[in-house]
Amino acid sequence: MAETTTIPLEDALEQPAAFKRRGLLFVLSSPSGAGKSTISRKLLAAEDGLTMSVSATTRPRRPGEVDGIDYHFVDLPTFRQMVADNQFLEWAHVFDNRYGTPRAPVEDMLNAGHDVLFDIDWQGAQQLHQIAGGDVVRVFILPPSMIELEARLRGRRTDSDDVIDRRMSRAHSEIAHWDGYDYVLVNDDADACFAKVQTILRAERLKRSRQTGLIGFIRKLDTGEV
Ligand code: ADP
Ligand code: 5GP
Repeated sequence: MAETTTIPLEDALEQPAAFKRRGLLFVLSSPSGAGKSTISRKLLAAEDGLTMSVSATTRPRRPGEVDGIDYHFVDLPTFRQMVADNQFLEWAHVFDNRYGTPRAPVEDMLNAGHDVLFDIDWQGAQQLHQIAGGDVVRVFILPPSMIELEARLRGRRTDSDDVIDRRMSRAHSEIAHWDGYDYVLVNDDADACFAKVQTILRAERLKRSRQTGLIGFIRKLDTGEV
């Protein structure tokens, strides 16, 4: 994957819109199977100005997954080289595989005035927060029960029994990181949970601290220029 930009993250976060606003890094995490991909898809379809960060991974492609859309599927030497070349904003080991967020596309998206959506685990959420602090909004999705989580993993029909067992045993350690998030939601009813995530995104976009164009506008109000 080519590295195409030299704009640092801090500068890219300043959006070029008329009424300037800082870009947002919107993180959705959950134990595997709780429903974050489903919510991400709906959010991307419903919200303008939001683009998905496509991670690189060394895990094998699942049936139906498309290279470059769901993930950039790379082999271990390529992943290691990308780490060595500082091409990742963050990366982590998950289920014996490596997953990482390519840096350049995120900086490009923010620079183009888009907010960026991340489907990454707690390790990634933590690393992004260390890099971009208050520009990161972290949402954690819980299943309504462990029985329902397993039923969803089985119902998805993408993983072997062995993989499902490992995802279930990892779910407990994922859930243990619930307190590293700004928002925690239970995904019982899919539509209701999606509506909550959408509300969070919309409210976070309106935060005063993100409206960097506000000071200029207030001055103009004050002087009667507008
Ligand atoms: P994740 O991305 O967290 O691994 P998915 O979005 O792939 O989870 O969801 C896992 C499975 O559960 C999918 O088959 C999806 O259709 C289903 N699912 C998602 N949300 C719900 C929900 N609220 N109720 C019932 N099934 C759901
Ligand atoms: P899956 O194999 O089900 O697609 O993803 C497994 C886990 O890896 C999920 O919890 C997902 O959020 C996480 N993940 C996917 N991409 C990244 C990434 O780039 N960085 C990190 N830290 N985690 C990721």
